[in-house]
Amino acid sequence: MRYVSTRGGMAPQSFTQILLGGLCPDGGLAVPERYPQVDAAELAAWRKLSYAELAYEVMRKFCDDIPPDDLRALCAKTYTKEAFRSEAITPVKTLEPGLHILCLSNGPTLAFKDMAMQLLGNLFEYVLAKSGERINILGATSGDTGSSAEYALRGKRGVNVFMLSPLGKMSAFQTAQMFSLQDANIFNIAVRGVFDDCQDMVKTVNKDAAFKQRQRIGAVNSINWARVAAQVVYYFRGYFAVTSGRNSANEEQVAFAVPSGNFGNICAGHIARMMGLPVAQLILATNENNVLDEFFRSGRYRVRPSSQVAQTSSPSMDISKASNFERFVYDLVGRDSDLVKELWSKVDAGGEFDLAGTPYFANVQEYAFVSGSSTHADRLATIRRVYQDYGVMIDTHTADGLKVGLEQRRPGLPLICLETALPVKFAQTMREALGRDPDYPPGSEKLESLAQRFELMDADAEAVKAHIARHSGV
Ligand SMILES: *Cc1c(COP(=O)(O)O)cnc(C)c1O
Repeated sequence: MRYVSTRGGMAPQSFTQILLGGLCPDGGLAVPERYPQVDAAELAAWRKLSYAELAYEVMRKFCDDIPPDDLRALCAKTYTKEAFRSEAITPVKTLEPGLHILCLSNGPTLAFKDMAMQLLGNLFEYVLAKSGERINILGATSGDTGSSAEYALRGKRGVNVFMLSPLGKMSAFQTAQMFSLQDANIFNIAVRGVFDDCQDMVKTVNKDAAFKQRQRIGAVNSINWARVAAQVVYYFRGYFAVTSGRNSANEEQVAFAVPSGNFGNICAGHIARMMGLPVAQLILATNENNVLDEFFRSGRYRVRPSSQVAQTSSPSMDISKASNFERFVYDLVGRDSDLVKELWSKVDAGGEFDLAGTPYFANVQEYAFVSGSSTHADRLATIRRVYQDYGVMIDTHTADGLKVGLEQRRPGLPLICLETALPVKFAQTMREALGRDPDYPPGSEKLESLAQRFELMDADAEAVKAHIARHSGV
């Protein structure tokens, strides 16, 4: 399996060659030359596997330059009952017949990003041990990505993590999750500024090619291909959980509803479908920052300036542009990398593109996509209703997905709503919706009272560079 760039400017690379990289040299995203296929016999066999075994079978198709036994061991080490708090790893809650929640948030940081990031941490450690290299991960976070990366990489050999976050802007629980880590290879940096300042500092550091090279600066952001690939696994799991497998002549179809920000999660659903999973609908939900809903309704992809990004009560979906979206558009336009390059030359310059009226946009339906958006009031109403009707507490992001899923689902189709975080991470909005505190999962009750360890810094890229140089051991 070899990988090329969505913009056509990269010689084919192997999985481990793209594993530690970010953007391709031409600014595009790495995609497999073709999607591996899963036939009916394989699908039937996969139904019986444990999560770790299924993860191995899926990843094996994307990654043929890690010896199979090693890859199997990495999956087995990652997807354990201890790390994900249940044998099933991704249990399904059935609210009523045909309406399900796929629970993806029982990993160490209580958000779905752990599903892929935990495997990525083990893959990084494995590949770095083989090559004898070290890497310094530099990132900016407004919440879930940073903590998920830190819990995946804490204590791993060959890796340090430098994570910038805006001082006082994350929820108390999210802050405690990150800052209570005492591992020697984790460096939390609280920046006097907003998330965009943090992201700009990361960009500035990365522009200093000599520093980047000397300090082996890497990233674990949402465009990382291995993260997308690892997320494909739970779409198969969700499908198996709500279908019988007895009806192979007359394929059972399902719909997935996915609360979306950077398009990483639902991109994995698209890939699962391209591999042959019988998915009839991929229902994309946005919050008030509806750049993706606008595209799927109108064909117009209109990136917002960061000043126009609303701060909402589903903050992990507050994005100005969707960094993984280019992977889907590449497929949508028939893998025409010249056209993708042309479209993103507009996007990268702060502009927009419009596929309305082109044959490409008509394909959106063929690719099973529909979309909708959800507001603060919708979120509260959905949280209340699900709690009253089913006694189940869902978080604000999951509520956005469920709201749009119910609106867009086709009758008769089982609907699987992806749960992307636990309510405890967004306690303030949960109190607003339900008038009570969210449940604390076992082991997390004391988190907010633990000692916190972080460096305080102004929004100054030079200060971050000095900090990295002091602590990186390079
Ligand atoms: C990251 C995140 C999302 C958005 O996922 P994308 O892959 O960026 O589309 C949604 N909900 C939660 C809780 C998240 O952490």
